[in-house]
Amino acid sequence: MALKITDSCISCGACQPECPNEAIFAGGDDYEFEGKTIPALSQDFYYIAPEKCTECKGVHDEPMCASVCPTDSCVKE
Ligand code: SF4
Ligand code: SF4
Repeated sequence: MALKITDSCISCGACQPECPNEAIFAGGDDYEFEGKTIPALSQDFYYIAPEKCTECKGVHDEPMCASVCPTDSCVKE
């Protein structure tokens, strides 16, 4: 399972450095997975690469992106 970022994201960037899996990307930024380039999942606001998100299990007690987001934009799918 993975979290996703809703359109209430204000692109503040606070969540990105908190992710232990580097699963969070700015809108418009492509990402790499298993050697392939995946086109950005959002052009307008930050997004989470679902293949990379582990919901922070085993690392933190709660999803870090959700805990730092000022607009409650990181939600469970
Ligand atoms: S829940 Fe954790 S692993 Fe998933 S995107 Fe948020 S910070 Fe990263
Ligand atoms: S912390 Fe919340 S508002 Fe800021 S970039 Fe991440 S999802 Fe968007």
